[in-house]
Order: sequence, then C-alpha cells, then structure tokens
Amino acid sequence: MHEFLSPRTIALSVVLIALTTGALLLLSSRQNDDQRSLITWGIANIMGGVGAAMVSLRGFMPELFTVVIGNALIVLSYSLNAKGTLDFCRRKVPWGWVMAPAGVWLALSLWPAFVTSVEWRLIVNSGIIAAASFTAAWALATLKDEHLVTRRPAAFWLAAHGCVFTVRMLPPLFSTVPATNEINAPPLVTLIMMESLVHVTLISFLQLSLIKDRAEERYRRAAETDVLTGQPNRRAFMATAERLVQESDHWPACMLVIDVDRFKAINDTVGHAGGDAVLVKVAETIRAHLRPTDTFGRLGGEEFAALLPNTTLQTAAVIAEGLRARIASLDICASGEMVHVSISIGVSVIAGGKPDLDHLIDRADACLYEAKRTGRNRVVAREDGIRLAG
Ligand code: GH3
Ligand code: MG
Ligand code: MG
Repeated sequence: MHEFLSPRTIALSVVLIALTTGALLLLSSRQNDDQRSLITWGIANIMGGVGAAMVSLRGFMPELFTVVIGNALIVLSYSLNAKGTLDFCRRKVPWGWVMAPAGVWLALSLWPAFVTSVEWRLIVNSGIIAAASFTAAWALATLKDEHLVTRRPAAFWLAAHGCVFTVRMLPPLFSTVPATNEINAPPLVTLIMMESLVHVTLISFLQLSLIKDRAEERYRRAAETDVLTGQPNRRAFMATAERLVQESDHWPACMLVIDVDRFKAINDTVGHAGGDAVLVKVAETIRAHLRPTDTFGRLGGEEFAALLPNTTLQTAAVIAEGLRARIASLDICASGEMVHVSISIGVSVIAGGKPDLDHLIDRADACLYEAKRTGRNRVVAREDGIRLAG
C-alpha cells in the first residue's frame, strides 16, 4: 500500500486539508455565538497545517525548523484544539496548560540526545497528542443538559484518535527496529498518516456539526419559551399537554386554567413594566407550587395553564386552592410599589372516552368564567356539572 501512497503525498494532503478546514472554521466564526471555539479550532488547524508542512520538508530545511519547530507547532495545534473543545463545553482551561506541551517539547529539544532519537521524539509527541485527544473526548462525553446529536460521535472519534496515538507510542518502546519518517517508511507509519488525514477531515466536520447542533438547540428552546416569564409558551404547553392527554397511563389528568384578576387595573396602577414584573412573579410562584411532573405554560396575556397527570379532580381542586391562597398572600414589588394580586382558577378532568385537549381546556375555561362571575379569587372545579370546590 505504501508504495503508491507515499508518506509525503499523504502529508501534503494533511497540510492542504488542515489549512482549508482552518480557514473554513475561521470564516464560520464570523456569524456564530460559539465564536471563541471556532476561532481557536481554526487557528489550531492552520498551525497544525504549517507544522505538518515543516515536518514533511525534512531534508530540505534545517532540523531546527522541521523537527523542533514543526513538531512544536503540531503539538500546540493539538492543545489549542482541545482548548477549543473545552471552551465549547464551558470548561475553563488556563493558557499555561495550553502552552505547556509545546514548551515541554521545545525544552526537550535543547537536549541533543532527544533531537537525534526518533524513538523518544515519537513517544513524547504521540503522548501529548493522545493526552490532548482524550481530554477533548472527556469534555464532550461529560457535557450535560444539551441535546447535541454530534456530541457522542465526536467524543468517540477523539477517544479513538487518542487510542491510535497511544498505540503509536508502543513500537518505539518495545521494538529494536528504528522508527523512521522517511519515504521508505514501514506500513505502520503510512497507516498512522492515513489516520491523521481522516482525523483532520473528520474532526473539522464534527466541530462544525457541533456548532450547528447547539445553534439548532438554542432556536428550538427559544421557539418554545415565553420571552417574558421564561416558562413554556402556549405552543410548547399545548404540544406536551396533547401528548400527556393521549396516554392513558396518565389518567385521570386535570387541566387548570389560571387567570390573574383585574390585571388591567394593576397595569393602570404600576404601568406596563410593573405589570410585567407581576406576571413574572406569578408565573414563578405557580411553577414552584406545582409538582415536577405537572406541565405548565403561559397561554398568553395574564392567562396560564397547567396539566396535572395522574391526579383526580378532588386532588387538583386542593392543589388549585393552595395555589390561589399562595398567590393571594404574595407581596410583589413592582415599579417601586407593593402590589397584591389574586387569581381565579378553572379545573376540568379527563372524563373518560376519547380525550380531547381543546374540550378539556374549554371545560376548564367555563369553570374559570364561573369563578370570575361569582367574585374572583376562587377555584371552580367541575366534573359532569358537579361542583367540587369554589
Ligand atoms: P379579569 O379579572 O376579568 O380577568 O380582568 P382583567 O383586567 O385581568 O382582564 P382583561 O382581559 O380585561 O385584561 C387583561 C389585561 O392584561 C389587558 C392587557 O393589557 C394586559 N396584558 C396582557 N398581556 C400583558 C403583558 O404581557 N404585560 C402586561 N403588563 N400586561 C399585559
Ligand atoms: Mg384577568
Ligand atoms: Mg384574561
């Protein structure tokens, strides 16, 4: 295989791909939130490309440039790449750690016995590359609270790359045959270089893909979140509620429709910004009062809804009453004034048959209307016309 795939041809491909992907990563950093990671990855690739070019010019340039500086640039490119990944995973890395491997390489290069020993150079160089790859793999593997499709494949590939370079340390340790970088290199060297070619192509693709996954996740979350209260918006609430209502293992399930009483008057007293602050506090209090398994959202304006799975109408009425009392006891500071608010709640229950979310909400709405009509600051819960609370 290595007869027609000469290490120099593969090295040239590595150089060209590292430089072009580096430019691509830098270019895409111009319109992205994860600008720092993209810039770091881009510079790392360009540095690695320049380093690989210098190393492959061995024989045409002094060893100081090829062996010492060329490899120092490759080592630095790997630690920079790992820094970009750690930044992406919101893990802090001091610059000292990023520069240390290249510093160690340069310090060892002051020692002539090291520069002339291919084995020792391979061991140190491969050890640093493996450590940087494993660190980046670990950061991605332990990244939590984000659904990024590319996260696991990227962590897996980085770990695999780290394993390749761990294995690469072994032949010089155990073999008496001198390792070489020359044209007539053994097949293992050709294979390792092929792996580097695949790595530089694949890792850049995976990095761009990670960035795209995160942007998509942000847009998806933004599309489901109410800007004012930070709670799920109507669309997100309806989607989750629809799913829960259709699954019979969540029955009986109750719907609470909650409306702030005389909110227009609150706006008139404390202004729109003050009204907003009241809505944020009310939403926060409702969410905190509900159980983690309950689904909650802002339907719009000063109206909220909650779906309580595995809850009877009697229990839902008790929960709603507790909620009403809690809101009524709040002292809310809005635009420098103390505001007291109350809520009215209508409660309906899935009453068997084919569940219909709109019908469930309509019935809770009818109860809410009755709560308003009969004086506000109250709960009305009904099942087939039987009033349970209020
Ligand atoms: P009721 O007790 O019958 O519910 O009376 P109400 O005044 O609360 O109800 P109405 O529907 O007449 O008024 C609701 C008000 O809520 C009108 C609107 O200006 C205000 N509002 C809706 N959305 C927002 C918002 O995002 N921020 C603020 N500050 N006010 C809002
Ligand atoms: Mg209202
Ligand atoms: Mg209303």
